[in-house]
Amino acid sequence: MTEVDVVVVGAGFAGLRALHTLRERGRRVVVLEAGDGIGGVWHWNRYPGARCDVRSHDYSYGFDPDLEQEWRWTERYATQPEILRYIDHVVERFDLACDVELSTRVTRMVFADDGWDVEAEDGRTWRARFVVMATGQLSIPKDPELPGQDDYRGTVLHTARWPRGGVDLTGQRVGVIGTGSSGTQLVPVVAEQAAHLTVFQRTPNFSIPANNAPVGDEEDAAVKAEYRERREAARNSPTGLSFPVVRESALEVSPEERRRHYDEQWPTTGFGFLLSYRDLMLDERANDTVADYVRERIAAKVTKPELLRHLLPEGYPFGAKRPPVDSGYFETFNRDDVELVDVRDTPVTGFTERGLRTTDREIELDVVVFATGFDAMTGALLRPDIVGREGRTLREAWVAGPRTYLGLQVAGFPNLFVVAGPGSPSLLSNVLLSIEQHVDWVADLLDAADARGAVTVEATEEAEARWVDHVNERAEATLYPRARSYYMGDDVPGKPRVFTPYVGGVRGYRRILERVVAEDYDGFAMTAGAR
Ligand SMILES: Cc1cc2nc3c(=O)[nH]c(=O)nc-3n(C[C@H](O)[C@H](O)[C@H](O)COP(=O)(O)OP(=O)(O)OC[C@H]3O[C@@H](n4cnc5c(N)ncnc54)[C@H](O)[C@@H]3O)c2cc1C
Repeated sequence: MTEVDVVVVGAGFAGLRALHTLRERGRRVVVLEAGDGIGGVWHWNRYPGARCDVRSHDYSYGFDPDLEQEWRWTERYATQPEILRYIDHVVERFDLACDVELSTRVTRMVFADDGWDVEAEDGRTWRARFVVMATGQLSIPKDPELPGQDDYRGTVLHTARWPRGGVDLTGQRVGVIGTGSSGTQLVPVVAEQAAHLTVFQRTPNFSIPANNAPVGDEEDAAVKAEYRERREAARNSPTGLSFPVVRESALEVSPEERRRHYDEQWPTTGFGFLLSYRDLMLDERANDTVADYVRERIAAKVTKPELLRHLLPEGYPFGAKRPPVDSGYFETFNRDDVELVDVRDTPVTGFTERGLRTTDREIELDVVVFATGFDAMTGALLRPDIVGREGRTLREAWVAGPRTYLGLQVAGFPNLFVVAGPGSPSLLSNVLLSIEQHVDWVADLLDAADARGAVTVEATEEAEARWVDHVNERAEATLYPRARSYYMGDDVPGKPRVFTPYVGGVRGYRRILERVVAEDYDGFAMTAGAR
């Protein structure tokens, strides 16, 4: 057994930041990572077309001004290889690799004697006072369970487990199942390579154009000259993006004025288009104005009118599922070698030896790609056996859905922290900004515990109950629960339908965290411990 102060689980952006910060504060830290490389989602998701949907300059660490100045992003929305190069640069610059154990999947953690016993799949064990779960929001891929996969003679791939060396799809007949963010990014690139592409779609998506472009020297210099202000604007925004906050209602302005505003926002804001007016996610009538606008934009891109019935999103509010940010997705369907199968009309019933069968026909395919997304938010936290006080497991504590205090701790699981998980802005925000906020806050909390001579830090039941109520109340006041989505958990069979992230916004959430500190860590019990 190896003894450390902190075990961090996961070596993505969150785990690396936690390692750096906690080590700087004098703690012995080890990061345990299931994958055979560093980088989290950017290690796993190597599919063609993978890139961030928040501007590269914002989707990067903000803790070190020199790092900000020296790194040169080449594109507004960086590709997966570029983001992984950035992560490698950070790892080298801050000498992080020496404290990361790769190919180490944590399978069991038990709270005993005021600390945690952590066990990996291969039997190795660690003893730590604290555990930080930096296991990610989108790190457990979902596989559709289709009968007959063993009989299929072609290749099956998942976007989130894309082979390291890439896959040559030239001249292949490719089928892509799923049109969420990954599918939307993948489809245009595969269409360029494949002989024929069949896209299997369940739910049409409101997708926003990335309008990606190279970052010119002038643009880079302009961002770098005002990086501090840009980060501050992001910290004070609803979603952690650096756009100016619009405080107007979509219903306060004339239709002409609204249209002019949408026209302005559309080409430049990407994911931030959701913030074009303050009430787009609060008021159905406001949302209708933006949903109609996006549908009109989509319709203008599609030249085959018979496809519109299938491609236009209907029946749920714009933004209630995280909108993809695409590069030529809808235009891809104008190609003659690309076909759309709407599985609402003709569901896929399973694999055959030569491809996939729908209720209508057999489709021959050399390669089938699952772009079917993730068991989001709670998947990675519920995989290992996490056993808290009195032998209670996290699975038992969360049987009706995740319960946290501030998204940071779970009552009954002392000294265990979650980064950017359920009950925090997480996937409703620029996740990188939320990660950094959490890591800094937890580092301060641990220092505060030490200063008081406390051995354990634990959210109280009462504080957790209050927070869960608050998270639910805020969610219910929005349009988010009106779609089947990974925010709601109901895109995974058997998962409780509970809204998981906190909709109160990055700025609102930060203020709450500041108030908790000002009120002497209200809701956290710090105790001298039993030892
Ligand atoms: C393709 C893609 C694009 C994205 N683009 C954006 C974007 O533009 N903007 C944005 O804000 N967010 C984006 N996200 C969301 C993304 O989840 C976050 O931005 C961020 O990368 C999360 O970092 P993380 O370190 O918290 O988690 P991850 O990067 O998911 O890392 C978690 C790590 O924990 C490991 N792990 C999990 N369980 C265990 C275990 N039991 N034992 C050991 N290791 C374990 C996993 O293997 C993984 O490497 C994107 C996600 C994907 C999949």
